[in-house]
Amino acid sequence: MATLDSKVPPGPLAGKWLKHKSDIKLVNPANKRKYEVIVVGAGLAGSSAASSLADLGYKVKSFVFHDSPRRAHSIAAQGGINAAKNYQNDGDSVHRLFYDTIKGGDYRSREANVHRLAEVSVNIIDQCVAQGVPFAREYGGLLANRSFGGAQVSRTFYARGQTGQQLLVGAYSALMRTVGAGTVELHTQSEMLDLVVVNGQAKGIIVRNLITGEIERYAADAVILATGGYGNVFNLSTYARGSNTTAIWRAYRRGACFANPCYTQIHPTCIPVSGEYQSKLTLMSESLRNDGRIWVPKKAADCAKDPNSIAEEDRDYYLERMYPAFGNLCPRDIASRAAKRVCDEGRGVGTSGLGVYLDFSDAIRRLGENGVRERYGNLFDIYHEITAESAYKTPMRIFPAVHYTMGGLWVDYNLMSNVPGLFVLGEANFSDHGANRLGASALMQGLADGYFVIPYTVGDYLAAQKPGSRPSVDGPEFKAAEENVRTMTRRFLDNKGKEPVSHYHKRLGKIMWEFCGMARTREGLTKALELIPALREEFWANVNVPGSADTLNQSLEQAGRVADFIELGELMCRDALTREESCGGHFREEHQYPDGECKRDDEKFGHVAAWEFQGADKVPLRNIEPLNYEAVKMSLRNYK
Ligand SMILES: Cc1cc2nc3c(=O)[nH]c(=O)nc-3n(C[C@H](O)[C@H](O)[C@H](O)COP(=O)(O)OP(=O)(O)OC[C@H]3O[C@@H](n4cnc5c(N)ncnc54)[C@H](O)[C@@H]3O)c2cc1C
Repeated sequence: MATLDSKVPPGPLAGKWLKHKSDIKLVNPANKRKYEVIVVGAGLAGSSAASSLADLGYKVKSFVFHDSPRRAHSIAAQGGINAAKNYQNDGDSVHRLFYDTIKGGDYRSREANVHRLAEVSVNIIDQCVAQGVPFAREYGGLLANRSFGGAQVSRTFYARGQTGQQLLVGAYSALMRTVGAGTVELHTQSEMLDLVVVNGQAKGIIVRNLITGEIERYAADAVILATGGYGNVFNLSTYARGSNTTAIWRAYRRGACFANPCYTQIHPTCIPVSGEYQSKLTLMSESLRNDGRIWVPKKAADCAKDPNSIAEEDRDYYLERMYPAFGNLCPRDIASRAAKRVCDEGRGVGTSGLGVYLDFSDAIRRLGENGVRERYGNLFDIYHEITAESAYKTPMRIFPAVHYTMGGLWVDYNLMSNVPGLFVLGEANFSDHGANRLGASALMQGLADGYFVIPYTVGDYLAAQKPGSRPSVDGPEFKAAEENVRTMTRRFLDNKGKEPVSHYHKRLGKIMWEFCGMARTREGLTKALELIPALREEFWANVNVPGSADTLNQSLEQAGRVADFIELGELMCRDALTREESCGGHFREEHQYPDGECKRDDEKFGHVAAWEFQGADKVPLRNIEPLNYEAVKMSLRNYK
């Protein structure tokens, strides 16, 4: 059974991080050169970590499966990044950001980590401005802010609808400066396919060169995974198509606990699904809810009408009606469920009936079309490209879609997993968002982890490792891990089945969306736990992977990723079935109040569930980390 010691430092909440930084072990500058650290992933979390560690003096090797770090999924982030700067003088503070994040996560995150996140948020903005990130500014030159869901202050910094792209250019510049200086060795088009554990500690990885097919071994003193989220388990999502779970899943199979896998975020404002041949979904940023108003017709009979012809009194601005205090800016889980509810009532719009309107006519009257264009122009362009409709003339049609995963590998306060030497950053860890992430908080967390947390905490682990004690890549653990990768590759290529990998990915996605999506039931999850193992069996018996192992072979890459998604999907359903309560994005229909709100069970489930692999075809072990709240009282989440 794994030991889950959160290592939360003692003392008052607001002083924990400061005290911890003063107490943890340091590595002296001359010794730092003797340690090698592997960083897998170069999105916001990975790039910021790799460059910061290299600047401290560690030797860093960075691995990405993309052809450039600039292709990481982080580039897609649109709306913004939160920070408790209180530039608007509207009552914001570190405590308020901390509190909003804890409440937004439905009291299922670790208090001390979230407080630290709120504290360092202010440093992130300074760091990025110093790098030249072009955040939006007011006319007088000060940085501008807008509002995001779950907050009543304006604390979101943004660069039009391209915040992730601009932040990534900043982090990428920092990374490439260290690559140029020779302190980071960058390996692109290199996919990590296994973790190497020596004497119980993470000491290396096995990588496939995606161009030549070569399998390579790399040893290090510590391994950091910053490999992003796993929402593509649903097949259709707003994630970049390449995002996958392989790095963290293979680490799970080597002993790292997987925490809260069922916590998935369904974002309320995405372009609705349009057909069977779609490969991804598109987000319309939450920032649009600053000025757009969400509604459906009051009468189902009006749903097919031109929205502009529906009179004001026949429209139901349901979020404003149900949640007057937060209105259109209530958190994502709540807005998504409300959209599902009105569609279930038969009041959805669009050809599928699975859509609601996001209407800018009030904003256009107030700000003029150009005013709206200035704020959201590129998002309106994206919408037009995809739907051939102008949202300046007719309301956008939106519907919830999978967008983010709050679950991930379990980490302690130092961001180290239960496998010593294995650290996990960004969306890949379970960290700070509990059962629901607030908008604009993922970028904040990824950069907090990479720029401000790991540079301190990795030293605490390395200081206890003898300099130069890295194992040789010729050791038995490396050989066994390489053989594991080769066996899986051979199995795919020798299979000669009938169906392509995508066939199984689509079928898995449908099972996950139907039974482990926006609403979950005991009956549905039990059924999914029968369907997924059967799908897994069929996949291995009948998948067809053409080509060979020693060239670029995208079917082979996909096969490994989908094999992992199938196993992960099963774990997600098991986690959702076991968690007999509703909280945040995890909505169990059996556990709700009469008004449809989530009914938590703090006594039985006020904990993190961290699953431990027990071997293929064996039920994994469910470990728990109790959540002890010292500064905040677990209470009913209310946005009314
Ligand atoms: C459309 C969209 C808009 C969003 N907008 C916002 C927003 O406005 N504000 C906000 O806060 N959040 C937003 N998010 C969420 C946010 O973008 C992500 O959570 C965040 O960028 C994740 O960063 P990351 O560094 O953890 O991972 P990623 O950016 O996903 O990077 C993962 C990296 O790992 C590498 N990798 C993965 N597996 C392997 C492997 N096996 N071997 C080698 N390399 C590997 C990849 O190549 C990549 O470099 C948005 C998300 C989406 C989908």
